[in-house]
Amino acid sequence: MTGTPEIVSGSGAIPRFALDPGPVSEVHAFWLAGMSCDGCSISIVGAQQPSVEQLLLGSIPGLPKVILHHPVLSVAVGKEFMKPHHLAKAGKLGAPYVVIYEGSVADESIAGAFGGYWSAMGTGGGAEAAPSPTAHWLRDLAPGAAAVIAVGTCATWGGIPAAAGNVTGSMSVMDLLGKDYLSTLGLPPINIPGCAPSGDNMTEVIAAVLMFLAGVGPLPEFDELGRPAWQFKQTVHRHCPRGGSYEEGKFDQEYGKGGCLVELGCWGPVVQCNIVLRGAQGHAGGCMNTGGICIGCTMPGFPDAFAPFYKKPPGSLMSTTASRATGNFISYLRKFTQDSRNRTNRWHKTEQVPSGWANVEGSPTVAARAVEFFYERLKRMGTEFKPGSSRQKALQAPSHRYLNTRPTWEGTEPSSGAAQSMPEAAE
Ligand code: SF4
Repeated sequence: MTGTPEIVSGSGAIPRFALDPGPVSEVHAFWLAGMSCDGCSISIVGAQQPSVEQLLLGSIPGLPKVILHHPVLSVAVGKEFMKPHHLAKAGKLGAPYVVIYEGSVADESIAGAFGGYWSAMGTGGGAEAAPSPTAHWLRDLAPGAAAVIAVGTCATWGGIPAAAGNVTGSMSVMDLLGKDYLSTLGLPPINIPGCAPSGDNMTEVIAAVLMFLAGVGPLPEFDELGRPAWQFKQTVHRHCPRGGSYEEGKFDQEYGKGGCLVELGCWGPVVQCNIVLRGAQGHAGGCMNTGGICIGCTMPGFPDAFAPFYKKPPGSLMSTTASRATGNFISYLRKFTQDSRNRTNRWHKTEQVPSGWANVEGSPTVAARAVEFFYERLKRMGTEFKPGSSRQKALQAPSHRYLNTRPTWEGTEPSSGAAQSMPEAAE
């Protein structure tokens, strides 16, 4: 990867750095929709880092321009829209392509037995006028694709259409393509789960794969299930803004209180997801950030393994009991320390807090003083310096000497009244 200065035209030309164009300047993206609610499509158009527009315009240095074929977003319709699909299927597209699949892959043999289909797009081409199932498009386009990217929990794991009792035989992209499938880049299917996934999760991975394809970036790290590891390695609980409440044993019994939601049915401690870090869109929103529980929508077991929703997970009983036992005591200690850290040195000495907002107890109790005495010693243990110590006095002596003898404004007499005395050491 090399940086080449490029001058933007105009009188106020600003030099900017771009990457040398790689051997791949354009990549087609075939977006196929199976048993889908279109939520992934809606989510991705809200992406910002990068945005769909940036990908389509090829405005990110080093990244090939994306030519998107999307059943809803494309301007082309009918045969004109389907033509690139047929060219790619026949190996005549003349440019690399990726397949992005949204929704579950239904077992089309079930519907086919009745002369129908579950989800289809276009026709088989030629004289074949029957609608062509998107599952078949996936099967036909996957072998020549640089990468197959499953977006959303339906495509990655099967999701709601594959829940127990379904009649469609729905499955994931992985299930359809099988364990031995590899794209032309040598990649198994890439999985970006979520219902719907954050738009940025999708565009970020697409951009990373395109960079790899263009030879200007490394292969991103994926986990054993093909999830982008940097997005799904950790549980959502680890970054939850309510995690501190869990640790202190503060569990809400109703919504809107600001505490941990595990007793209302939150599965966050075991669910791999980055929604609270990334937000739903533009770093805003996202499940627990906005007061909702985690129902495990990014996980392969969703929805059956997490149902019934809004019921406390049985596995949380032990951890919440332990947190309650230790949390209340820890909270008390923290509150105590917090109170003493909420005072300035001056308020400490005068035992007065001049707050007009509320009544603040001025003088700590004898017990509080005793605890603080030992707390301070513990805090400073092993350190040479402490505020107010004789070491500090020695270090500050020249400044104080100057203050005690500094000239007055008139520049004649030393200032006597302004002399500052060193505060007494606390011990
Ligand atoms: Fe964990 Fe859920 Fe509680 Fe957040 S609300 S701390 S994710 S259990």
